[in-house]
Amino acid sequence: MQNAQPYGIPLPDTRSTGRLRVLDAIRRAGQIARIDIARQTGLSPATVTTITSDLLQAGLITPILADDRPTGQRRGRPREALKLRGEARLIAGLKVAKHAITVLLVDFEGQEIGSHEFNLPQSQFTGTGLCMEIIAAVSEACAHHGLAIEYLSGIAIGLAGQINGKTGFVHWSSALVRRNVDLGMMLSERVPCPVFIENDANLVAKAEHLFGDGRGARNFLVVTLEYGLGLGMVIDGQLYRGARGCGGEFGHTKVESNGALCQCGQHGCLEAYAGAYALAQADTTQHEKARRLFAMGLANLVNLFDPELLILASKDGLKHPLCSASVLADVSDMVVKVDVPMPQIRVHGWGDLLWAKGAAAYGIEQVAALAVRDLGSATQAVPASAG
Ligand SMILES: [Zn+2]
Repeated sequence: MQNAQPYGIPLPDTRSTGRLRVLDAIRRAGQIARIDIARQTGLSPATVTTITSDLLQAGLITPILADDRPTGQRRGRPREALKLRGEARLIAGLKVAKHAITVLLVDFEGQEIGSHEFNLPQSQFTGTGLCMEIIAAVSEACAHHGLAIEYLSGIAIGLAGQINGKTGFVHWSSALVRRNVDLGMMLSERVPCPVFIENDANLVAKAEHLFGDGRGARNFLVVTLEYGLGLGMVIDGQLYRGARGCGGEFGHTKVESNGALCQCGQHGCLEAYAGAYALAQADTTQHEKARRLFAMGLANLVNLFDPELLILASKDGLKHPLCSASVLADVSDMVVKVDVPMPQIRVHGWGDLLWAKGAAAYGIEQVAALAVRDLGSATQAVPASAG
């Protein structure tokens, strides 16, 4: 996930790729000395010096004095480290949920500036309608914190459904009344900064990887339980989206032929039994069936992917009826038996704000890539504006 070539933003040359690798290393570390950047990226110390000088000139990073030596050995000047320059960029991360949009404003370092919840009057919109709600939510969030939408360098949005994260094209989403909506383009025409749209479960996986239970894991899955069921897959350290960017539709895996009608229009999808909308209408017997089908689905994921960790993410955490000990025991019964321990299954209670945090983290990565791309091949970089 922390690759130097970000999803959807092509970089013009190797110099740009090198700059992004350095910027990524600084972002991941928080603060880091040049010599350690060279060690981590495999770039020569001379190249790192040239690149960091470009990034300093562009106002993307800033030097700080880091004294990490033991007290007794602090002689002479502390060594200089580098960190991202927070005020260089302002980013909005959004989670579009069924009845509200949560907006998180962060600076380039990922420091939270503020959050805002914007209520939605309905749960389904036309493309234009959803654009207007998103813009209103972001404008309101900015205004609440004494800012204007014009100050933003990027808006990153997590949305349920099948979304091409490279283009922002929405093949299908439960938030839209129609299929095939070019939401990315529609929003880009209406806001003064780049817009990045990604499947919301992918952004939860990103958040888990960066600051949640998935930290340090190379192969893990996140199943999100909310109105529908989502899946984010991190394979060999990278988010896996599938060839068309539409992968991970765990909620629409088929569990019964001619079964219950799903919100996607097909029949017999897992989420037509185990999504919050199905559970809300189900009686006790149907709840039992939902638990069994969900456990089967999870066991299938473990059998297919053999992840080191499976995270179940929902607002209700352990209180969610599908995250009970009996469901997890059923999963374990249905996983193919080998003489090594089962992957760990963890239940993680998530609020919409944490989904928005995943979106904001994605936004920072994308904005960083754009900043590097815009430096081009110029050695004399242009100073970045504060906005
Ligand atoms: Zn479906």
